[in-house]
Amino acid sequence: MKYLLTAFAIFCTSVLTAQTLSAEENRIIAEVRRHHAANLELLKEIVNINSGSLNIAGVKAVGERLAQEYRKIGFHTEWISLPDSVKRAGHLVAWRKGQKGKRVMMIGHLDTVFEPDMEANPFRLLNDSLATGQGVVDMKGGNVMMLAICQALHNLKLIDDATIVCYYTGDEESTGEPEWLSRQDFIARAKTCDIALGFETAQNFNTVAVGRRGSSSWKLTTEGRQSHSAGMFGPNASYGAIYEAARILTEIRRQLEGEKYLTISPGVIAGGTELNSDDKNFRASVSGKTNIIAPAAVVHGDLRFLGEAQKQAAREKMKAIAASSLRGTRAQFEFYDGFPSMEPKPGNYALVKTLNDISLAMGLGEVKAGDPGSRGAGDISWVAEYVDCLDGLGASGGGAHAPGEVINLKELPRLTERAALLLYRLTR
Ligand SMILES: [Zn+2]
Repeated sequence: MKYLLTAFAIFCTSVLTAQTLSAEENRIIAEVRRHHAANLELLKEIVNINSGSLNIAGVKAVGERLAQEYRKIGFHTEWISLPDSVKRAGHLVAWRKGQKGKRVMMIGHLDTVFEPDMEANPFRLLNDSLATGQGVVDMKGGNVMMLAICQALHNLKLIDDATIVCYYTGDEESTGEPEWLSRQDFIARAKTCDIALGFETAQNFNTVAVGRRGSSSWKLTTEGRQSHSAGMFGPNASYGAIYEAARILTEIRRQLEGEKYLTISPGVIAGGTELNSDDKNFRASVSGKTNIIAPAAVVHGDLRFLGEAQKQAAREKMKAIAASSLRGTRAQFEFYDGFPSMEPKPGNYALVKTLNDISLAMGLGEVKAGDPGSRGAGDISWVAEYVDCLDGLGASGGGAHAPGEVINLKELPRLTERAALLLYRLTR
C-alpha cells in the first residue's frame, strides 16, 4: 500500500509538472510574442527573395539574411559550399555548443519550388488570418520559427550552455546530385546531436510527423524474340517484350497492392522494335510495326516505402516476378535509391509525448502523431537512423508547391511558442 501511494504521488507530481507551465516557461511565451511582429516582417522580406532551388544567388541571399539574425543572438554561422558540378547553392548552419541537456538539431530549407522564370507572388495578406507568397509555408514560415525560438531562449539566457544546430539546406526541393555529397555535412552534423526537429509544414495544428516514407526508383527492361505478329498465338512464338512488361506490371500490382506504406507505380513506358531509352531524362524514342512481335520494352517507375526492410523485400518480390518469364522473353529490373525513409521509432513517439504535455499545459489541445504513410520524403529522413526525430513542427497553411500557397498567421504564434517550450524542455 505504501509503495502504491508513493507511486501514485510520483505519478501525480509528474502529471502536474508536465502539464502545467512553469514561471520560466510563461516568460518564454511572452518573449516569443514580443518579437512576433518583427519576425513577421522578416518572413515577408525572405518570401520576397526568390529562392528556387536552382537560383543559387537567391538561396544564398535568404541564407545570409537569416545568418545575420543568428549572429545577433550569439550563434556561429557557416556557409557549407558544394562543388560547382552539383549546381546548388549550399547550406546554412547556425550553431552553438554547450554541455546541458539534449543536443538538438533543427532543420529547415532555404529553397522553394518556384524558380525566377515562374510567375511572381509577393507576400500578401489575404485576410486577417491567411497570407500568400512563394514558399511562405513550405517552408520560410518554419525557417523563421526556428530563429524566433532560439531568439527567445537566448534573450532569456536559457540556452547559454546548450548545443543547438540550426541546419538550413539549400536544395531540399531539388536535391543536388550526387546526394551522398550534397547531404554529407548534414548527416555528419546530425551524428553530433541526439534529436532532430524538422520545421517542415505542419500537417495541421495538432498533428506532427513521426515517420515519412522514402522514395526510390526502378527500371524494367524486357526483351522478346522478334517475328511475324500473325504467329503470336502459336505454340512456339515469343510473347514479345510488351506482353512480358504488361504481365510483370500486372503481377506486381496483384501481389503487392495493399501492403501498408508501400506503393509501386510505373511512370513511363515504351516498347517496339527500335527503342532508344534516355534514362537520365526519362525519355524514350521508339518505332515499330503492328505486324511485328515487339523485341524491346522499357518501363521507369517509383517505389515508396517505410523502412529499408520493406524496400528490400519489395525489390526481391519484383525480381522474382520478372524471373518467371513468359515463353521467349527475358526481363530485368534495376533499382536506384532516392530519399531514405524516416521510420517511426519509439524515441520519436517520446518526443510527441513531450510536445503533447506542453500543448495540454498551454491549453492548446492534444498533439498526435500523424500516419507515417501520409508524408512524403523530406530532409529529416537522411538523419532518421542516427537521432530521434520529429517533423512537421513548422507553420500551418496549405497549397504547398502550388502558386497560391498560404500560411495561417493565426496559428503561427501559438505553434512558435509551443515549439519554443519543446526546445526549452529538451535542453534542460
Ligand atoms: Zn519543404
